[in-house]
Amino acid sequence: QAKNEGRNNYQFYSRSMNEMAADRLALENDLRRAIERHELRLHYQPLVDIHTGLVIGVEALLRWAHPTRGLLPPGRFVDLVEEIGLGQAVGEWVLETACRETAPWQSADGRPLIVAVNVSNAQFSDRGLVTRLSRLLRETGFASSRLELELTETIMMPQPEEAAAVLQQLKGMGLRLALDDFGTGYSSIGHLRTLPFDTVKIDRSFITEVATNATDATIAEAMITMAHARDLRVLAEGIETVPQLSLLRQLGCDEVQGYLFSPPVPADSIPPLLTGPIVPRG
Ligand code: C2E
Ligand code: MG
Ligand code: MG
Ligand code: MG
Repeated sequence: QAKNEGRNNYQFYSRSMNEMAADRLALENDLRRAIERHELRLHYQPLVDIHTGLVIGVEALLRWAHPTRGLLPPGRFVDLVEEIGLGQAVGEWVLETACRETAPWQSADGRPLIVAVNVSNAQFSDRGLVTRLSRLLRETGFASSRLELELTETIMMPQPEEAAAVLQQLKGMGLRLALDDFGTGYSSIGHLRTLPFDTVKIDRSFITEVATNATDATIAEAMITMAHARDLRVLAEGIETVPQLSLLRQLGCDEVQGYLFSPPVPADSIPPLLTGPIVPRG
């Protein structure tokens, strides 16, 4: 009897493995056509000044409007994009689309709105990145000071000297640089000390319990103090509650982003949010 169960388990396991492989293959084939079929979308999430409540920028977040599976978040397909060699094409589509769609937007105080774009490690380590970005800025006329590249510190892993040199080049072009998911890497403090970032984005995992867990509050405060020691601005990701907002304001955080203000939304939902201070959702 035990043998039987074992065999059934094995069959179940192997069938589900096959299903997973088939599912992946189907998704892969769909993905290869997604760009030409205009199925990729950018949603935008406001970046909010913690003192004025004004939207000072937006983060572009990739979505795939799949014909049968609905609107897919990046967690469902970005790794696949890289694996099947579409990283370059999709990355370029994201940068171009973000610059084009956000070009007319201004913040309520008249300042140009920042657009933050996530850049994958493969995109970052591609030798052509700097050239392609220069061309994009030239051809679109988009001000480099409005474009913020979001990078995680894992870009430093394979070749730290080369990565540091690319960061300096990007900075030299007038782009803004943000260190994304801060705190989740291995040597966050060293990178803050030496690299030319403008903004540090504290990862949501440190924010979730910041108002209810004294240790997390102390860690967040230490991150803010460290970043300010280097004159970097600090943004807290994933703010969902008013107590989180109040505490982060008290700790000296500069900017916030999260469902409390707005989830990522389609481009045409952004302009109404740019007319005055954004109101936290009740
Ligand atoms: P990320 O850059 O750290 O983006 C923040 C993620 O947190 C987004 O998930 C956003 O929807 C989510 N988020 C924002 N506020 C809240 C909140 O209050 N609560 C919760 N629970 N979540 C919140 P999303 O859009 O699913 O993106 C996930 C990740 O996918 C991003 O993390 C980024 O690493 C990657 N990604 C997104 N767009 C692109 C892209 O165009 N290119 C590349 N290479 N990666 C991208
Ligand atoms: Mg990001
Ligand atoms: Mg992030
Ligand atoms: Mg994150």
